[in-house]
Amino acid sequence: MPLFAKSSTPRQGGSTGAPLPPAALAPAAPPAPAPVARPPAAPAPAAGRPAGPPRPVGPPPGTPPVVGVPALRPGVARIPRGEPLGQVLVRMGALSVEDLEAAMARQKADGRKLGEMLVAEERITRDQLARAMAVRMGVGVFTLGDGVDPSLGRLIDEKSARRYQAVPVRLDPDGRLLVAMADPSNVFAIDDLRILTRHEIRPLLASPEEIQTLLGQTSRLDAVVADLVQESGGDDTPLDQADISDASDDAPVVRLVNSLIARAAEERASDIHFEPQAKEMVVRFRVDGVLRTVTSVPYRLAVGVASRVKIMADLDISERRAPQDGRVGLTVAGRPLDLRVATLPTVYGEKIVMRLLDKSNVMLTLAELGFAKDVLAKFEACYRRPYGAVLVTGPTGSGKSTSLYGALNQLNSTDKNIITVEDPVEYRLAGINQVQVNPKAGLTFAAGLRSILRCDPDIVMIGEIRDKETAQIAVESALTGHLVLATIHTNDAAGALTRLTEMGVEPFLSASAVAGILAQRLARRLCSHCKQEAMIPLATLKELVDLSVLPPGLPDPVSVYRPVGCARCQDTGYRGRVGVYEMLVMSEAMERLTVAGASGEEIARQARREGMRTLREDGLLKVLSGHTSIEEIALAVG
Ligand SMILES: [Zn+2]
Repeated sequence: MPLFAKSSTPRQGGSTGAPLPPAALAPAAPPAPAPVARPPAAPAPAAGRPAGPPRPVGPPPGTPPVVGVPALRPGVARIPRGEPLGQVLVRMGALSVEDLEAAMARQKADGRKLGEMLVAEERITRDQLARAMAVRMGVGVFTLGDGVDPSLGRLIDEKSARRYQAVPVRLDPDGRLLVAMADPSNVFAIDDLRILTRHEIRPLLASPEEIQTLLGQTSRLDAVVADLVQESGGDDTPLDQADISDASDDAPVVRLVNSLIARAAEERASDIHFEPQAKEMVVRFRVDGVLRTVTSVPYRLAVGVASRVKIMADLDISERRAPQDGRVGLTVAGRPLDLRVATLPTVYGEKIVMRLLDKSNVMLTLAELGFAKDVLAKFEACYRRPYGAVLVTGPTGSGKSTSLYGALNQLNSTDKNIITVEDPVEYRLAGINQVQVNPKAGLTFAAGLRSILRCDPDIVMIGEIRDKETAQIAVESALTGHLVLATIHTNDAAGALTRLTEMGVEPFLSASAVAGILAQRLARRLCSHCKQEAMIPLATLKELVDLSVLPPGLPDPVSVYRPVGCARCQDTGYRGRVGVYEMLVMSEAMERLTVAGASGEEIARQARREGMRTLREDGLLKVLSGHTSIEEIALAVG
C-alpha cells in the first residue's frame, strides 16, 4: 500500500499545503478562458497595450539594454494590478458570486489568502487557482504536456535557471522566448533573462515542481562534461579504471553517461555514437536517420565513458581490441528503453554505438506509422489470414521490423502461439516467444525455424529471409497452415517474388504461399512548426517526382510544403518520420505470372492494373498532404 501511495499521490496534490503540484496545472479541469482574453475591467496600465501577456521589461527589441534603468518604471506597469482574484474566478465559472461573497467574509475573519483558502476548502481546484492567477497576471500557464524544446536549454545557463526558477521552453514565431517560471511576476528576473538570452521574454506560469522537472530534463550536456573535467582533477592522466567501475550514481562519468542517454531518449534519437578521435571523444545522436554532433568529451575521459557504457551492457571492459556487443534494459523518464551496445576498435580507441529501442514506439499502431487507409486495409487483410506468407521488403532502416511488430501486436492474443526468430531481437514483446539467432551456437535462421515448427506455432515471424534454406522452410510452412511474417531485402514489392525464385524456391510454391508483399521506405516528416507552403506548376511536380502519370484532379499550380528549420527541429526542417508504402496483394493473375517466370516489372505492372500504388505514388500523396517534401521523397524512394 505505501508503495502505491508513493507512486500516485504526489501527482494528485492530495496535501493541501503543497504549492502547485504538477498535476494541478494539467489540463484536466474545465478550460479556463485563455489568458489573452483580457477582462473588460482591465485597469489603466494595461489598457494602452494590445491584449496579451505583458511584454518584457525594457526597451523595444533591437535596442541594446540600458543597464540599471529599465527595471523600475516599466516594471510597475508590467504587473497589472488586474481584477481581483475572486472576480476572475467568478468570471471563469469556478465560483458563484454568492460563494465568493461568503468566502471573502470568512477570509476577512481568518486573514488567509483567498485563493489558498478556497483550495483548502475544496471550493476550487489548484488548477483553477493557477489559471486564475495567470489570467490575473496576464500570463499563460505552462503544462508539461505542451512539450519543451530541448535545444533552448543552452540559452539560460543552469545556475541562472535555478536562481530565477525559470526554464526556456519554446520560441514564439516572432522570436520571443517562452519561459516557464515559478514566479512570472518577478520583473527583475525577466529583465535579467532578457539580457542573458538576447530574446524578448514571455513568461509562463509553472509550479515549482514543474520547474524542477524541467531543470532535470534540460541540464546541459556540456555542463555535465565541464563538471566532470573539474571533478576528475586537472591533470592529464587517464582516469583510473577503478574509478569508473565504481557504479555509484553520483560518480561523474556515470552522471555523464546517464545524461547522454536521457537526452538521447528525449530527442527521440535512435542511436548514440561515441567516437574516439585524436584529441577527444565526439558524441553524436542519430535523429530521424540523420547524425548530429551533440558534445565532445576530452580524450582523457574517453576511456572512462567507454568503460562505463561497457559495464552497463555487461561487456568485458579489459577487452578493447575485439568488437563486442551486448544489451541493457533501462527506464528513462518512465519509459522502458532497451539499449543495444556494440563496440568497434578503431585507431583512436573503441568506438561505441548504442541503439535505443523505445518500447513505446512498437506500440505505435500501424495507422500512426503513416499508412494510407486503403493500404493498411490491404496489409491487414493479408496478415489476418490464417495461413500464408506476408513479406515486408525494403532496405536496411526502412522500418520493416516496426511494421511487422505492429502486425504482431495486432495478432497477439492468448489463443495463438506466436514464435519469432530474429537477429537481433529488437523489441521484446509480452506474450510472444522470441528466439535470438546465434550462429556460434549453431542457431541460424534456418535451424531456429526448423525447431520453431516443431513447437506447434500458429504464427511465425522471421527476422529476415536471407538464405535458400530459410526461404524454403518459410514458404513450406506458409503452405502447411502457418501464418508466416518475414522481411526480405528487395527494392520493391514485386521484386520479392523474383528474389525467392533466385534463392532457389520453386516459383509455383512461392506463388501460392505468398499472400501479400509490403514494400516500404521512411521519409522525414516536415516540422509542422516551420514548414512553408509553396505553389509549384504541375509540370514541375511531375518531373520532380518522376511519375509518368499524376493522380487526376490536381489543381495547377499545386500546393506543396518546403522545409524551413526552427528551434524545434534543430534547424533541419524535419521532425519524425513517415512511412511510404507499396502493397501488393497476390492475385491469380500475378500467381500465373510468377509461375511462368515473369520479371519483377511484369508482375508490378499487373499489380498496378489491379490498383497497387507504387512507392513513388504513395510518396507523392504524402507530399500533397503536406507530410513531407518532394526532396525527401526523391531521396527516400529515388
Ligand atoms: Zn521546425
